[in-house]
Amino acid sequence: MADPRGFLTTQRETPKRRAVDVRIRDWKEVYEEQPFGDLQKQAGRCMDCGIPFCHQGCPLGNLIPEWNDLIWRGERSEAINRLHATNNFPEFTGRLCPAPCETACVVAINTEAVTIKQVELRTIEEAFNNNLVLPLPPDRLTGKTIAVIGSGPAGLAAAQQLTRAGHTVAVYERAERIGGLLRYGIPEFKMEKSIVDRRIAQMEAEGTRFRVGVNVGVDITGQELRTKYDAVVLAIGATNWRDLSVPGRDFKGIHQAMEYLPWGNKQALGELTIEAPINANGKHVVILGGGDTGADCLGTAIRQGAASVTQLEIMPRPTQERPSSQPWPTYPMIYRVSSAHEEAGERLYAVSTEEFLGDADGNLRALKLVETKFINGKFEKVEGSEHEIPADLVFLAMGFLGPEKSEMISQLEVQLDDRGNIKRDDAFATTEEGIFVCGDAGRGQSLIVWAIAEGRSAASAVDEYLMGETQLPAPIEPTSRSLTV
Ligand SMILES: Cc1cc2nc3c(=O)[nH]c(=O)nc-3n(C[C@H](O)[C@H](O)[C@H](O)COP(=O)(O)OP(=O)(O)OC[C@H]3O[C@@H](n4cnc5c(N)ncnc54)[C@H](O)[C@@H]3O)c2cc1C
Repeated sequence: MADPRGFLTTQRETPKRRAVDVRIRDWKEVYEEQPFGDLQKQAGRCMDCGIPFCHQGCPLGNLIPEWNDLIWRGERSEAINRLHATNNFPEFTGRLCPAPCETACVVAINTEAVTIKQVELRTIEEAFNNNLVLPLPPDRLTGKTIAVIGSGPAGLAAAQQLTRAGHTVAVYERAERIGGLLRYGIPEFKMEKSIVDRRIAQMEAEGTRFRVGVNVGVDITGQELRTKYDAVVLAIGATNWRDLSVPGRDFKGIHQAMEYLPWGNKQALGELTIEAPINANGKHVVILGGGDTGADCLGTAIRQGAASVTQLEIMPRPTQERPSSQPWPTYPMIYRVSSAHEEAGERLYAVSTEEFLGDADGNLRALKLVETKFINGKFEKVEGSEHEIPADLVFLAMGFLGPEKSEMISQLEVQLDDRGNIKRDDAFATTEEGIFVCGDAGRGQSLIVWAIAEGRSAASAVDEYLMGETQLPAPIEPTSRSLTV
């Protein structure tokens, strides 16, 4: 175990965020690097519990006490081996995961959790810096071919596992670049895109083939794919966004978050070849939806120079402490302050939009809001609470309703479940022979850590389908539900 008295002698300390007035002038990541010695002390707080609840909290089953101990001892190479044993992309989860492992940490029962996410991130960054992340091509090829559709974290995890098992894998992506929401949704200030690029380089060197700009169902049909490949993995995400059909929805200036964020990322990377059609500069911005996507719009709008930003949430403001209905080790709904929230803007809770208001030219000018109360599982309007807030730009960040019901879905004839996701059994198999599904496409909108866990598990199922047996690990079954998220 790490330092036996570490949790008694060392306080939790996370890396510092760069000063707000500095970081909002660039798009670089928000966090500063913590000195390695300080990180080792933090890893030393791990108690190596008899029952490590953090394993249960993490959908990947990360071997957290083991790599905490190794980092505490300074054994970087062994630490990254233990981390990679369960997680293909710790550099994504180390930056972006809400860390259900930490809310399940036993130290967190009566004090602050071990900084697991930070130890994870630093372990992989030390590994990249010390040239310890090398391509792992297979020793021999099986002769089997697999098409993975979609290059988000689920598709990438499935592709890497299957390539390393010796199969010939092609990843089809309709966008210009690889990465799914890692590339186009998550802003640069949360994760710089060079982080995605260096992992893609490793995958290419291992033999995974990438076909970008190919919209499956349009540029190549589902039938063609089935003829060409021995198995198909659908990792197409849940990109069917939820809209808000209230009066005034057609006024100019109301956009979906995912219509906006990709332009912000292009701007951040200096890749704009035309003027971005949506830009918050000088505008009064209102964001509908209090989650991660909304916070990403907030941070982007601030960096673009918005005049004001207001984020609206229909739910009441969560409490600072765990509610008694969400005890340890669950992942609680508590009041959280993301880096974007720290930068600027106002958050309004328990409000709902009744109407968008515009001017004679059809431009948005304001929102008509009402206060809401959550009674018997329903939101009810507080009578007499109507009021207006000014707005030139609105971003809808209200979640997603499963995968797009595209041409590809009908061509492949896969069935959907009653939530509109692609139906699958416990072996990630869809209703069609040889076609598998993983990530948000099968699970519904979720998290990167779940997408990676599903990609790994689906790869194991595909390998078994093709070879009759498999050595690939399968951290989860699709029906499993985490204790915490
Ligand atoms: C703005 C935003 C911020 C988020 N922030 C976080 C966060 O901080 N932490 C976190 O854990 N989770 C976050 N999430 C959720 C997380 O990004 C997703 O759960 C995760 O990316 C799902 O991975 P996936 O591989 O299933 O799908 P995706 O990442 O959505 O990738 C699906 C890919 O399939 C491609 N595709 C679809 N149809 C076709 C087709 N017919 N042909 C070819 N390609 C196709 C798409 O272009 C896309 O690239 C965020 C989500 C959003 C929208």
